[in-house]
Amino acid sequence: MDYSKYPAEPFRIKMVEPVKMVSKEERAAVAKESGYNTFLIPSKEVYIDLLTDSGTNAMSDRQWAGMMLGDEAYAGSRNFEHLESTVKELLGVKHVVPTHQGRGAENILSTIAIKPGQYVPGNMYFTTTRFHQEHNGGIFVDIVRDEAHDATIDVPFKGNIDINKLKKLIDEKGAESIAYVCLAVTVNLAGGQPVSMANIKEVSALCREHGIKVFFDATRFAENAYFIKEQEEGYADKTITEIVHEMFSYADGATMSGKKDGIVNIGGFLALNDEELFMAAKEMVVVYEGMPSYGGMAGRDMEALAIGLKESMQFEYIQHRVLQVRYLGERLLEAGVPIVEPVGGHAVFLDARRFCPHLEQKDFPAQALANELFIESGVRSMERGIVSAGRDIKTGENHTPKLETVRLTIPRRVYTYKHMDVVADAVIKLYNHKEDIKGLKFVYEPKQLRFFTARFEHI
Ligand SMILES: *Cc1c(COP(=O)(O)O)cnc(C)c1O
Repeated sequence: MDYSKYPAEPFRIKMVEPVKMVSKEERAAVAKESGYNTFLIPSKEVYIDLLTDSGTNAMSDRQWAGMMLGDEAYAGSRNFEHLESTVKELLGVKHVVPTHQGRGAENILSTIAIKPGQYVPGNMYFTTTRFHQEHNGGIFVDIVRDEAHDATIDVPFKGNIDINKLKKLIDEKGAESIAYVCLAVTVNLAGGQPVSMANIKEVSALCREHGIKVFFDATRFAENAYFIKEQEEGYADKTITEIVHEMFSYADGATMSGKKDGIVNIGGFLALNDEELFMAAKEMVVVYEGMPSYGGMAGRDMEALAIGLKESMQFEYIQHRVLQVRYLGERLLEAGVPIVEPVGGHAVFLDARRFCPHLEQKDFPAQALANELFIESGVRSMERGIVSAGRDIKTGENHTPKLETVRLTIPRRVYTYKHMDVVADAVIKLYNHKEDIKGLKFVYEPKQLRFFTARFEHI
């Protein structure tokens, strides 16, 4: 492995949070008490926490300084003005509706832009996104390129929309029956796979021709921009900010979870260009979130988000971010551990189908693997497979996604390369006695977004 490819952390650490390692016996007891669901494990029992990169980021000194400038007025906070002008300037969008996090924006967009029975095509589903679409009577249609569903196909821009799938949907159902296209940059559940500028442009042109709006799930827009700069012809000399600006020029708006590329612990927003939709969104935000000038965030949260958005587009930051994730992936590949390839922007996904070939999907191999990894090493990860996919809203049958994965998600600016080594060593050790991993079954299955709170036991 060529270590020189990986830049050192582009920051100094000036505050630390000690972590402790409990014994393997204790962790086995904790896993059992937590119903073999890593979401239910208390944080204090975790050594390296790769459950998610959502809200787990380390803020910068500037963001913390910004927290002290919180203007906690109920209406018209200065921090909202700062957030609003930052989003408008950096993304080039017309209107900003603040929300408490990404799903708050998804809720509002789905409520105002979907009529019951309309289709909502997207490049692979995301859990909360699809929930809100379906909850508002929308029918999710997956139009991601086929390769995205295959962990073993290593192609660039694996998150791209298959333009023929979109054309076919428009031809068969008619443009009026499509609420909007939800274009995720990057595609979380495909492995953090980016979408190329060419694809964004093509989708946008086709949609504009048919009067269909395009909304980004912009959660990881800065990571996506890094991939474009690194891998797409013509973008090597462009700044991340220029690339982001161009990306958004092809969209009608976006839902954004600030907890990801906003580098904060809480927050989000809905960005819209359309005046009428903006008015409708403002009417909804007061019902679900709060005043249109805070939307569920404290003034200080909005200040930290405004600063974090700018920091996420600094080249040194985003390069280290994406390459640190790739480093973990490379270490695993070198040892022959099956992962989703290529490595995406925010996480390394273990391919549980190949990791645990002795388990069938109905026995929840990824869920079982995530738990064994925790027991083995204190590393917490997350299932992204059949459990997360839930049941079909009409038939009640389990969705059976091709990708059955365990996601090792790297929080921003929190862990070092040495932590990545500890994680890699733990996964490799487990891989060497993978036959011992036993399947699981539900003992409690919630109706909605079941993965968050379900409980399991060994078969
Ligand atoms: C996290 C996430 C969301 C939802 O955002 P929250 O802030 O967790 O509500 C939506 N889409 C994607 C791709 C995400 O990763």
